[in-house]
Amino acid sequence: MNFLTVIQILLFIGLVGGSFFVAIRKFKEIYDNVNKGRPEHIPSTFFFRLKSMLLIAFGQKKMFKLTFPAFLHLVIYVSFVITQIELIEIFIDGFTGNHRILYHAFEGNALEKLYVFVINFIEILSLLTFFVTILFILRRTTFKVRRFQMPELKGWPWKDALLILAFELTLIIFIFMMNSGDSALEMKEHGKDYGFLLSGLFGNMLTGLPNGALFFIEKTGWWGHLCMVMTFLVYLPYSKHLHILLAFPNTYFTRPEPKGEIHNMPAIMHEVTSMIDPSYKVPATDGEIKFGAKDVYDLSWKSLLDAYSCTECGRCTAACPANITGKKLSPRKIMMDTRDRMEDLTRGRKLHGPDFTDNKSLLGDYITKEELRACTTCNACVEECPVSINPLTIILELRRNMIMEEADSPPEWNNMFSNMENNQAPWQFSPSDRLNWANEMN
Ligand code: SF4
Ligand code: SF4
Repeated sequence: MNFLTVIQILLFIGLVGGSFFVAIRKFKEIYDNVNKGRPEHIPSTFFFRLKSMLLIAFGQKKMFKLTFPAFLHLVIYVSFVITQIELIEIFIDGFTGNHRILYHAFEGNALEKLYVFVINFIEILSLLTFFVTILFILRRTTFKVRRFQMPELKGWPWKDALLILAFELTLIIFIFMMNSGDSALEMKEHGKDYGFLLSGLFGNMLTGLPNGALFFIEKTGWWGHLCMVMTFLVYLPYSKHLHILLAFPNTYFTRPEPKGEIHNMPAIMHEVTSMIDPSYKVPATDGEIKFGAKDVYDLSWKSLLDAYSCTECGRCTAACPANITGKKLSPRKIMMDTRDRMEDLTRGRKLHGPDFTDNKSLLGDYITKEELRACTTCNACVEECPVSINPLTIILELRRNMIMEEADSPPEWNNMFSNMENNQAPWQFSPSDRLNWANEMN
């Protein structure tokens, strides 16, 4: 092993090790954040969970409500998964200082054909992904799709979406540089054709270049590919693209209850039960009882996982009747605000210690009461979300806090509440008059 190979191995280990270290630290931070949420029991069986995950995350079932974007997304998704096969070889080569170790291990036997088939498949998918990525960029910048033009996407979310698409294009260019440079060198130095269809074609065009230039192209592609993958790994937990990973646990923990089923609040149930039955023992709590949620950690861990899993696709907002009719509410913004709040608190804790507080809260400083009041609780956002996110749960929890802790509700709602309390219905009629509508019928 020569000196240059040793340097290359050390650089490789430094780059990969450093990237994994930084990424894992951030993933741990996200895990801790989700665990800071309130407990929530999800009453589903293992098979229900597995089925949800396989159908919704792996099978992209809900994406296909919009066929064309779903097809484009599927190309990128499959390409992302399949390209990782080539990465396995890059990793083995990087750690051992070899070059195309799998190809040479399989050379001359039946597995060589499989190897070449896999690389060809990756290259065809990569080329398709290149064009799909350009379409995605155009969709955000030129076609002016309404759900990508909303105020909550201004600034960082807009840049984040485009940045990742630019990563994707660069990564594909590096893959082709690596394979084409290598194909051309192999042809010139050993008279051997790998059998790669696309990069073989590009490689043929490059054979006129000197070997040094081909080596440079191949190595730039190899290191470029690796650097892009490692950059992506480090960047992922800071981006909406975290959904690539979190869509799986989030769909695994899909809530099984019918949409629209609103949960009783245990604190209220205990209080009412103890009023009806004085012998009822209210379970001890390990802190003050809060009604609803004022800040992020008053929400359940599932709602916090939802926030980190949001793809910012805006399908929820596009279906939201409040948003469509011009109200300020956007369920996508609810998810983005929840995540931003957790990230702001994390940053604060890192800078000022674990007891950090900024005297702000999710309710009021991030999500306004006007937004919360606009929700009709129709569940359209829940129905539309391709990764089983439920913005309505967060809205309801914040609204409960607003009303039950702050007694802040519009006068029309107060009338309704007192009617519910006195008449067991939202209207101002006595319960004994409830069947009067049928008096004139036999
Ligand atoms: S439940 Fe609320 S936020 Fe969701 S779509 Fe309906 S009105 Fe919009
Ligand atoms: S909540 Fe779901 S539908 Fe709404 S933006 Fe996030 S991923 Fe898309």
